[in-house]
Amino acid sequence: MPIKIPMPKPIAEIDGDEMTRVIWGWVKDELLRPFIELNTEYYDLGLENREATKDGVTHEAAEAAKRLGIAVKCATITPNAARVEEYHLTQMWKSPNATIRGALDGTIFRTPIITKLITPAIPAWTKPITVARHAYGDIYTAIEGISPDGRLDVEYHNTIASIKSFAEACFRYAESEKLPLKFSAKDTILKKYDGKFREVFADTHKDFPNVDYAYTLIDDAVARVIRSHGGFIWAMKNYDGDVMSDMVSTVFGSLAMMTSVLVSPDGKFEFEAAHGTVTRHYYRYREGETPSTNPVATIFAWSGALKKRGELDGVERLTEFAWRLENAVIDTIESGVVTSDLAGLANREVKRVNTQEFIAAVRGRL
Ligand code: NAP
Ligand code: MG
Repeated sequence: MPIKIPMPKPIAEIDGDEMTRVIWGWVKDELLRPFIELNTEYYDLGLENREATKDGVTHEAAEAAKRLGIAVKCATITPNAARVEEYHLTQMWKSPNATIRGALDGTIFRTPIITKLITPAIPAWTKPITVARHAYGDIYTAIEGISPDGRLDVEYHNTIASIKSFAEACFRYAESEKLPLKFSAKDTILKKYDGKFREVFADTHKDFPNVDYAYTLIDDAVARVIRSHGGFIWAMKNYDGDVMSDMVSTVFGSLAMMTSVLVSPDGKFEFEAAHGTVTRHYYRYREGETPSTNPVATIFAWSGALKKRGELDGVERLTEFAWRLENAVIDTIESGVVTSDLAGLANREVKRVNTQEFIAAVRGRL
């Protein structure tokens, strides 16, 4: 047996629910543990354990992400009325993502994983576009009113502190990824509200002089983005980011090929897949079927966290391994071996495999 790659410092490992929890185990057993001395602090955020700990485990996980600086998270169930019944919950526990985001005061960056097998709906987009959405304020906390005389009024809300955190996380991430950063809003109309965003971004740029940054009016930005080749971070206010992130992910093809990283203003990173726990596949798995769920975003959450750990600690072999893992995944897909969701999007004939067969093919290339 070759000697495994060392991992001197741990990351926070946050386990989750349903199909993604099953895939989590397969990825660790087949693609990580055989190659590296996996070093993690483990937090079980499976819904049973959140119930057993009265959600204490979620707060412990958030604290560990802050303390260790790097976390990797599996998708988790956000309880609703049906889940309260299904899992016999004593409370409708809060969304773990909301708890962790609150603790880290973080911004979410979503990036598509691109392969030659899937042509984006806008073929010029050959490089990823990462969308950064300010997940606070705007219309989501607006006060609305309709007057008897037929007037409709809306009052927006935000805070300068939250805008600052957002801007800092954007520059921090742009610096870490060595990517240009664009921020767009409509400060010609909302001179004070959007003007304040523009001003805060310009001020924050002074602390990150190496980042290639530009402000663009949102409508002009849309035109430029459509005609671009990708390869930048596009930061937007809450509503603009909500709409545009759905547009961008649809153009690139599949939610199963989208990674997500939460970055705090002081440079802590939490990596995850953008999709949920894939409940329908899990119910079939429980019936004994072998589903063809796409594990790519989960694998990239791990590789993202390992890359960052290697970079911060100067463990080159760890970073190198993470790159090799990502390349093995891309090569497997480009060789035409894919899960069912991608078979429908492929621009040529492919071989459909189930999740375990796909993971085995990736391991073969490693
Ligand atoms: P979802 O788990 O993302 O799944 C929605 C559908 O998208 C699936 O049924 C499947 O379509 C397709 N899909 C998603 N990921 C896929 C993958 N990796 N491979 C293949 N197909 C994939 O969203 P949901 O059904 O709305 O939510 C399920 C649970 O996840 C909920 O309890 C929700 O609270 C939770 N959730 C968690 C997070 C998070 O922790 N970050 C995010 C979103 C949702 P087909 O069934 O048609 O194949
Ligand atoms: Mg949306």
